[in-house]
Amino acid sequence: MPSSEPAYQQCLNPDCNARFSIGETLTRCPECCDLLDIEYDWDRLPVPRSLRDFESRWGRRNEPLEFSGVWRFRQLLPFAPENQIVTIGEGQTILQQAQAVARYCGLPADGLYLQYEGLNPSGSFKDNGMTAACTHAHMVGAKHAACASTGNTSASLAIFASATHLFRVIVFVGSGKIAYGKLSQALDYGSKTLQIAGDFDDAMSQVQAVCREEKIYLCNSLNPFRLEGQKTIIYRILEALRWEVPDWIVVPGGNLGNSSAFGKALIELKHLGLIDRLPRLAIINARGSNTLYRLWEQQGLRWSGGRPDQEIIDSFFDEMDQSGRRASTLATAIQINRPVNLKKALRALDACDGVVREVSDQEILDAKAQVGSGGFGCEPASAASVAGTKLLRAQGVIAPGDKVVCILTGHQLKDPTTTVAYHAADEEQFDRILGSQGVHAAPFANKPVSVANELDQILEVIRSSR
Ligand SMILES: *Cc1c(COP(=O)(O)O)cnc(C)c1O
Ligand SMILES: [Zn+2]
Repeated sequence: MPSSEPAYQQCLNPDCNARFSIGETLTRCPECCDLLDIEYDWDRLPVPRSLRDFESRWGRRNEPLEFSGVWRFRQLLPFAPENQIVTIGEGQTILQQAQAVARYCGLPADGLYLQYEGLNPSGSFKDNGMTAACTHAHMVGAKHAACASTGNTSASLAIFASATHLFRVIVFVGSGKIAYGKLSQALDYGSKTLQIAGDFDDAMSQVQAVCREEKIYLCNSLNPFRLEGQKTIIYRILEALRWEVPDWIVVPGGNLGNSSAFGKALIELKHLGLIDRLPRLAIINARGSNTLYRLWEQQGLRWSGGRPDQEIIDSFFDEMDQSGRRASTLATAIQINRPVNLKKALRALDACDGVVREVSDQEILDAKAQVGSGGFGCEPASAASVAGTKLLRAQGVIAPGDKVVCILTGHQLKDPTTTVAYHAADEEQFDRILGSQGVHAAPFANKPVSVANELDQILEVIRSSR
């Protein structure tokens, strides 16, 4: 047992709790197959006395580690020697008040903040985690890395490979549903791209087998180092709020890596005395991909001190397989049947007095149009957080005076097909692209106007709409 290391890997299962060195390349506990956490012996590490101590680092942003919105906070994820850190300038994201979107959600104009994680180099929050996974891969000397992806994880791994030349990368995507922006990134950044004849869950199980066989480094959110990087989204939100804890953090739930990372970040900050209370956490599923919603809200599955009822989980997935039910939503980034970080998300919900909701694709696309016309825009999955906030406010779970932060996980340009279909498609296209997912109206559509190539007619159109 590596008791001399202040940072180590530890099995999540309280009946196992096996520890492993940071230098090992593992994705699950070799003894019981449960998930692994990165844990720290905080008493032996230089922890900041106050979160304000981080502010001075911004003044040294000509140094790459201070420029990074992830590694600026490296004292709170202290597993890597500084000279091994792999950074491409990730985490330059911002929190903004969004008055029109707040009103849409039924909140006062100053009640809602949007955290734009789409501003990362590859256009999604995944870069926060990928910088940490790539750092660990570099620490253990890996030269080959792989992931399965609904699109953004592959875009992120691909950009780290293209920008650093440290790894050769293979990405596995399911067939069909990957959004074009994301596929274009993996191809453009030069990663070998395998389109498996199956969905994300199939790609996920194949990539694990391949990584085992070929000793390739696995970069999915099963990788506990990724979640360490994703903790920093919380630190940046707190920083933008001048270290005041909001009442709610609302996040879309797919593989549940983000929500798990947020829970871990907040539990650690409280443990270290750096915050005095936890925000509540809301995880929003798409109705067509609602494993967590069913398990948490309908079947009452709970963290239960690290021993969630495995029978509930097993019979749920048995039923899913037997009935042939597969996830299906336009929010492709959260179209996932078996969220790998389920148990860690239960821990986060438990610590943060959490709730889980499901929203329809119609609600997601309407919310997305609101974010677009009242902010910087986002991809469909991200807007689940806004649709979920509106629902929770309507249900009275979010109170009128609460301060709410919605995580916008991905950039507006990721999925132009869905956006253009919502705003501009003719009836036939609309039905084909959106109707099959239960979207039948576009109340916030901003239709383009067709006009002849004649100044008179163009002026007429402009004058009549002024
Ligand atoms: C990956 C992703 C999600 C889902 O996040 P999880 O951590 O897997 O729950 C949501 N939105 C976008 C844009 C994503 O890329
Ligand atoms: Zn174990």
